[in-house]
Amino acid sequence: MTANEVILLKYGEIVLKGLNKNRFNQLLEKNVRRTLRKAEGEFHTEYAQSILFVRGEEGSDMDAAFALLKKVFGVVTVCRGVECEKDMETILSVLREHARELLGNARTFKCDARRSDKRFPLKSPEICTACGAELLEVCPDLRVDVHHPDVVVTIEIRDQVAVLHGIQEKGAGGIPVGSEDRAMLLLSGGIDSPVAGHMTAKRGAELDAVYFETPPYTSEAAREKVLSLARKLTDYAGTIRVHCVSLTEVQEELAKVCDERLFTILLRRFMVRCAEKIARKFGAVALVTGESIGQVASQTMLSIASTDDAAQMPILRPCIGLDKEEIVVRARQIGTFDISTLPYEDCCAMFTPRHPNTRPDVEAVRAEEAKVDVEGLVARAIETDRIVRVW
Ligand code: ATP
Ligand code: MG
Repeated sequence: MTANEVILLKYGEIVLKGLNKNRFNQLLEKNVRRTLRKAEGEFHTEYAQSILFVRGEEGSDMDAAFALLKKVFGVVTVCRGVECEKDMETILSVLREHARELLGNARTFKCDARRSDKRFPLKSPEICTACGAELLEVCPDLRVDVHHPDVVVTIEIRDQVAVLHGIQEKGAGGIPVGSEDRAMLLLSGGIDSPVAGHMTAKRGAELDAVYFETPPYTSEAAREKVLSLARKLTDYAGTIRVHCVSLTEVQEELAKVCDERLFTILLRRFMVRCAEKIARKFGAVALVTGESIGQVASQTMLSIASTDDAAQMPILRPCIGLDKEEIVVRARQIGTFDISTLPYEDCCAMFTPRHPNTRPDVEAVRAEEAKVDVEGLVARAIETDRIVRVW
């Protein structure tokens, strides 16, 4: 008898709304394969009746694959199953052997049988009865609950094989990365911007990221931290090019020439200008930041207005309505929180004004900015772009 573990990925039809099904399927499969490169072993993927089956060759790390596949956008539920020869004796012995994997910590269950092979000698209710009895015998604490079971154990009799599957876990939701255009994430070492990147990728965008540093005021370690954050995001977003750009000259020039109270907003305007130039060069059509209204001085609505004044591209701010606590919950879920809270210096922190203007007037900001050579500073900053590809 051969029985092989499989992972089944399902997407709700609602996900497909407005998307072309073939394109969706291709993108999802491509992203799944790419993700599986992070797990030990050789994997194969195949669609059957709107379910993407993932099979591992002998010795492949199915636990790692399962954990990774829960992060792939476009998948609504992920479940582990077993494939075996389709005779009743084999099915029952596989159920016995894999009961715990199929049931998890469930206390109640029901069986559901589907036959796409109508020649199979038992009818669906008979398959359910036999399988239910087998499971009750192996797990005496278990009860059947046909209305609200903790787990539905499904026995599918397909053309070639039988597939048994049980506990379903929630997938990452969203739509496959690549369904949308590319966005340029302004990635600092903080808590918010990785969350913003995750939320943008969840809606199908591919990501580039730009990190602004100010050597020698910021260290190699601070950059490494940002690269680690980007690496964490690649589990969801796929390969990311991280553009490391020095704003040292900009910061020093602003500190020398401009009104300190407008310092943060002026710096922010330089960031979006540089980000936008790099975005155009690498095919991104929007910028993304981790801002949320009123979180700090530079994130009041008027500060945001002054920032947008320097940009032509849309600036997406997916965290805009989230409280810090809510952002932290998300950061923990996606695994970036512990990296974000490592204690490294932030490029803005050492030039932070004592009394920032929280209600900047756009005209005043423009006038202040006119004191420096904007074009030249942006051009020279962009020349420092060092690209690190992470995945
Ligand atoms: P975060 O936790 O993302 O650092 P924050 O609360 O510290 O956010 P700010 O420092 O005001 O907020 O930054 C707001 C947004 O501007 C960030 O979410 C990020 O998108 C962008 N940003 C700030 N600093 C940098 C930087 N050094 N490099 C790239 N982007 C940055
Ligand atoms: Mg920050």
